[in-house]
Amino acid sequence: MRTYESIIIGAGPAGITAAVYAARKKIDFLVITKDIGGQAALSGDIQNYTGYQFIAGPELVAKFEEHLRKFDISIKENEEVVELKKEDNLVLVKTKKDIYTAKTAIVASGKRSKELNVAGEKEFKNRGLTYCATCDAPLFANKSVAVIGGGNSALDAVLQLIKITKEIYLINNTPSLGGDQIMKEKVEESKIVKIFNNTQVLEIVGDRFVRGIKIKKDKIIEELSVQGIFVEIGLIPNSEFIKDVEKNEFGEIKVNCKNETSTQAIFACGDVTDVPEKQIIVACGEGAKAALSAFRFLSQQR
Ligand SMILES: Cc1cc2nc3c(=O)[nH]c(=O)nc-3n(C[C@H](O)[C@H](O)[C@H](O)COP(=O)(O)OP(=O)(O)OC[C@H]3O[C@@H](n4cnc5c(N)ncnc54)[C@H](O)[C@@H]3O)c2cc1C
Repeated sequence: MRTYESIIIGAGPAGITAAVYAARKKIDFLVITKDIGGQAALSGDIQNYTGYQFIAGPELVAKFEEHLRKFDISIKENEEVVELKKEDNLVLVKTKKDIYTAKTAIVASGKRSKELNVAGEKEFKNRGLTYCATCDAPLFANKSVAVIGGGNSALDAVLQLIKITKEIYLINNTPSLGGDQIMKEKVEESKIVKIFNNTQVLEIVGDRFVRGIKIKKDKIIEELSVQGIFVEIGLIPNSEFIKDVEKNEFGEIKVNCKNETSTQAIFACGDVTDVPEKQIIVACGEGAKAALSAFRFLSQQR
């Protein structure tokens, strides 16, 4: 079996930047990823990536991918890593299709959407209930929809839906909305958005497709008539496949400022780590640092 110098897991902003840096350092590496772009592809409106006052997520991802493909990089796309561990001083990476080995690994597997865990959620997934406003908002033109959540992801979803839908119920289980002030103001100013704070979702209702959402506020239960539901209640790290490294209470991989994990030769970067801010520009910077740290480690081994 071929042993790479490094394997990068994930091709979101962190993994792509790590790959660009690794390629420029002539590391012999492989990228294994479920998709190209990660969460960045889901953002409708990015206003905080230096150099672009405004750019849509898919457009920024296209630019990232163009940069990535400039190099002759081996990429296993649509492949999911199910286990990563150290064995005989090598890193062993198992996917659903194959097993790979390398001297180092850079984990850049990011985060995924949290589920609501209420009645009807599984039944109506992709039958009106979705976790991605960027992907699915156009399906709900002139319809009534509910967005569940109160942070940046929920606000971003509402701002995308304002342009398309007839009315939006924003259902948040805390006393007030969180997220960026500028987004919050835009949402609060909109005439088609009705905000329900301190409100719990009890059930998604429908027949073949979503027909409504049952909520509870101040002990009063009511059913709102909606055809679409966007679940935007936060994210969980894609870190289950790696057992050999220390994680924090949220499951994020602990890293130091050189992106080293608690296990030698395993580096991590971006949203999957305990780095404080989860942003594209931060993930890119962390990806660059992780690749340079892996390069330094490999140079010391040579
Ligand atoms: C709706 C939304 C809007 C946002 N808006 C903004 C914004 O305006 N500005 C901003 O700066 N940030 C924004 N963010 C946050 C930003 O997208 C993330 O911080 C950034 O994408 C993190 O990059 P990452 O590479 O660490 O992880 P991710 O983007 O999550 O990428 C992870 C990669 O790993 C792959 N992967 C996961 N598990 C596995 C596995 N087991 N095997 C193989 N591959 C795997 C995924 O397919 C993906 O390619 C937004 C996020 C969301 C959800």
